[in-house]
Amino acid sequence: MQCHYCDRDADLAVESDGIKVGVCKQHFREQMAELEDAEWLDELDEQLDIDRRE
Ligand SMILES: [Zn+2]
Repeated sequence: MQCHYCDRDADLAVESDGIKVGVCKQHFREQMAELEDAEWLDELDEQLDIDRRE
């Protein structure tokens, strides 16, 4: 799956208005940054940390 916002490969699939779209981490974060108090984001953050540690 390709990122909905750029030409990179999507790292995640998110559902928006019932439509599943792929997003890369960068664009996923940009989108999520607009949403405050997303409780599940912390959990996802930990998952992404696995990649960031390298
Ligand atoms: Zn992207």
